Amino acid sequence: MSSNSTGCRIAVVGGGIAGLATAFRLREEMRAVDLPGELVVYEESDVCGGATRTERIDGFALDRGPNGWLSNEPLTARLVGELGLTGELVRSNDAACHRFIYTRGKLHELPASPGKFLLSGLLRPWEKLRVVGEFFTRRRPDDDDETIYDFGCRRLGRGFAETMLDPMVSGIFAGNVRELSLPATFPKMRSMELEYGGLFKALIAKKREQKRSGGEGGGPAGPSGVLTTLEGGVGRFTEVPAETLAEHIRNNHPVSGLTRDDGEFTLWFDGAKERFDAVVMAVPAHAAAGIVKGFAPEAADALGGIGFADTVVVCHVYDSDSLPVQPDGFGHLIPRRDGIRALGCLWTSCIFPDQVPGNELLLRTILGGAGDPGIMGLSDEELLAVVRDNTATTLGIHCPPLRTWIFRHRCGIAQYTLGHRERVAVADKLCDEVPGLAFVGASYRGVSLNRCIRDAYTVAPRVLGRFGVDVAPIPEGADTP
Ligand SMILES: Cc1cc2nc3c(=O)[nH]c(=O)nc-3n(C[C@H](O)[C@H](O)[C@H](O)COP(=O)(O)OP(=O)(O)OC[C@H]3O[C@@H](n4cnc5c(N)ncnc54)[C@H](O)[C@@H]3O)c2cc1C
Repeated sequence: MSSNSTGCRIAVVGGGIAGLATAFRLREEMRAVDLPGELVVYEESDVCGGATRTERIDGFALDRGPNGWLSNEPLTARLVGELGLTGELVRSNDAACHRFIYTRGKLHELPASPGKFLLSGLLRPWEKLRVVGEFFTRRRPDDDDETIYDFGCRRLGRGFAETMLDPMVSGIFAGNVRELSLPATFPKMRSMELEYGGLFKALIAKKREQKRSGGEGGGPAGPSGVLTTLEGGVGRFTEVPAETLAEHIRNNHPVSGLTRDDGEFTLWFDGAKERFDAVVMAVPAHAAAGIVKGFAPEAADALGGIGFADTVVVCHVYDSDSLPVQPDGFGHLIPRRDGIRALGCLWTSCIFPDQVPGNELLLRTILGGAGDPGIMGLSDEELLAVVRDNTATTLGIHCPPLRTWIFRHRCGIAQYTLGHRERVAVADKLCDEVPGLAFVGASYRGVSLNRCIRDAYTVAPRVLGRFGVDVAPIPEGADTP
């Protein structure tokens, strides 16, 4: 056990959902076992939350980044409960199960079953035949890395990869399907191939299993679980832990470096330093690389190799009564080959009707991503022009929006490109060699809120283990990326 006279000293660097969830978990466990010590969260900006924040303006709840999480992760449900937020949970409207892809000049609803998929107009007849051929495609036995696009082409054909996988990857990672690693982003898909011999075979086996156990599962139209938020927007999920942990949080404290000597860590700030027994790095990998480079150059190189995509969220509002069309569903994604600059659009007031004050249509168009690095160079006017164009083309809404808000996310979403697993393994090896050091957050094992929370719950017991605290292992997780 390494602790000074005032007990153990633990620092969490970064106050996004991953850092806050880790700090909350640490505090709860420390209290539960009466572990004396100090817990500090250092956040560089004047407000915690990172990407997970909501603006509330004139009755609109405007999520800056994420708009919710899927209800299939037990640890997220547990955190909601531990924060006392269960009564504030909001499930997405039933209409949100209708998801669309805009391709070849029109919106196509994503079919809810393989049978409906074959009848839909999303793929051409020969592309559908190729999809059916997946059943007979042999598994690839080796564990070499492979892009999502190559995996899709190999098992389901190019038409499926370009029409279905490409927009799905835009929707989750704002990423390039030809660059992201399948085992790093969708490890379950790869294991379906390895364990069952193919995706269809795995789906059939899983359906049988679900029938037997009476559980709910995902289908071709989307993953399992229901999109869920909190009253007032997903930002509550960082506001509440930040309030709960207020005495531990140091805002406007950018950490610039980390060193280690005599088994203790020193965090460096502008003109100051603090010593700790354990440090959890909950900042994006590019920031972590800069912080650890002094004492772990090899890990810093690996962390620095994790790329990020800039994204821009534009919220735009219309008077529903004066519109020629009434969108009803979750929203639409757009394959890159269709040549439209927006990645997609969420029909927010259909998903969460309480996020608008009246009968307005609130849309959230997502721009940027790995394929559009120039997006941050656009002025507000240029961004709004792109959004107006996209809304006219895809939804037939030609009138100007009543109100707009723009949220820019520089390095918004980590890109798990080929070699990602190896890069994360270098960081993990460093943590094995240096007890008390951990990396959590969206840069490593999954970009979703669910994954960040799972990371937090996995890391907290490991950190406390250093002080002789024995915490029960966490249960199996969901299969969200
Ligand atoms: C536009 C967009 C839409 C998304 N939609 C969804 C969605 O619908 N559902 C979903 O599950 N996920 C979604 N995501 C992903 C999800 O929001 C993020 O992966 C998640 O919020 C990341 O949390 P984090 O704590 O790892 O990092 P962050 O939120 O980036 O937090 C990191 C924190 O570290 C701080 N920091 C950085 N450097 C330093 C430093 N040197 N010292 C101190 N502090 C520092 C930052 O200020 C920040 O507060 C979306 C992301 C974006 C950008």
